[in-house]
Amino acid sequence: MYAYAVDFADEGVETVLANIHERAGLDGVGYSITYHDARDLFPHNPKRKTGFMWGGQLYFQADKRLYNGLRLQPLVNELVTERDLLTEVKEAVTKRGMDLNAWTLFLHDSPRWAQFPDLAPRNAYGDLYLTELCPANPEVRAYAHALAMDIARYRPATVISESLHFLPFEYGLQQERGALDLTPRVRLLLSLCFCPHCREAAIAIGVDADSVARAVREELDGVLSGNAQSDRAEVDRLEIGKMCSGEMRGYLEARCNTVTSLMTDVATTLRAEDVELVVLEIVGAMKGYATGAPAGASAASQAWQLGVEPTHLAKANVQVEPLGYARIPSRIEFELAAFRESLPDARLGLGLRPALPDTDSVDNLAQKLVLATRYHIDRLDYYHYGFVPLSALDLIREASTAVR
Ligand SMILES: [Zn+2]
Repeated sequence: MYAYAVDFADEGVETVLANIHERAGLDGVGYSITYHDARDLFPHNPKRKTGFMWGGQLYFQADKRLYNGLRLQPLVNELVTERDLLTEVKEAVTKRGMDLNAWTLFLHDSPRWAQFPDLAPRNAYGDLYLTELCPANPEVRAYAHALAMDIARYRPATVISESLHFLPFEYGLQQERGALDLTPRVRLLLSLCFCPHCREAAIAIGVDADSVARAVREELDGVLSGNAQSDRAEVDRLEIGKMCSGEMRGYLEARCNTVTSLMTDVATTLRAEDVELVVLEIVGAMKGYATGAPAGASAASQAWQLGVEPTHLAKANVQVEPLGYARIPSRIEFELAAFRESLPDARLGLGLRPALPDTDSVDNLAQKLVLATRYHIDRLDYYHYGFVPLSALDLIREASTAVR
């Protein structure tokens, strides 16, 4: 079960673990290593009912030597400057025979990164997206590598990675605004990075990156000046790949290569320390996060928009974890079936929310757990301890007992 560092700091390590282990009956915890800016509501925290999460800050005592020579230096949150909280959690978890997992946001988000604008993605117009880092940038990749090495010192069972890829257009700040009703295709075009490193990656496989950027600008110019947009259908990779006489197909392929190689590098680094990399697949989460009612195409069929190719990752022995943020069990079955179709033998995880808007009863959660078994899910993660009422822990235990 995911948990913030502030949950452990405020409630006490043993209290949190007793709740997760004994009350919910779970055998692992996903400690938040870093997070994005957010103001969150904590229903059962004894010290605060809301809290501010500082994006890009680390909730463990980083080893600064690992970041030597990088402009991106670790910034440790004040919660853990005087206290080695992650070691405390690791020791307590080990004593209980539970797993420690390191829930880690790699490339999203921190306004402090704005001091290095050359590390940020830039759209086809050259505008910067300052809340994120471009995965094609060598300095960014070196930072991700250093962070992975740093976390591995604590010997977690896994690093559960989030945002180790390109991000959607309306995501980095989570407060993006605009008065136009954009279609999925336009959103994708606005999200594409054309920084020098992304262009280089495309040119390296024979793509005319400048022409792709020009074609993107031309289409966006039309939309922004009021022309009719393409239909509202989800983006078809083959269809959009025809842009710019087919050059777009190669540009999208280069993005996927960039992300696959970054994830493979991080996974290899971690594996040398006996730590496994899990990749959270956020397309499903984006569709269902606010309402629990995702619709349209499966996450498995849309992940390429972020540069994520589940089949490539499975070949690199990286475990993918779809996020089943959906109330209706049949939607989760739809998602799992799509992932299993493309990854019949791969190890898969599944993220679930044991409270509203997804789960309103033991029976609802039990149905989802039955699906997890049917589709041979290797790991289940619940999101997350600090957010849900403690009664959700009872619901997890009752649903787990019901399907045994
Ligand atoms: Zn880029």
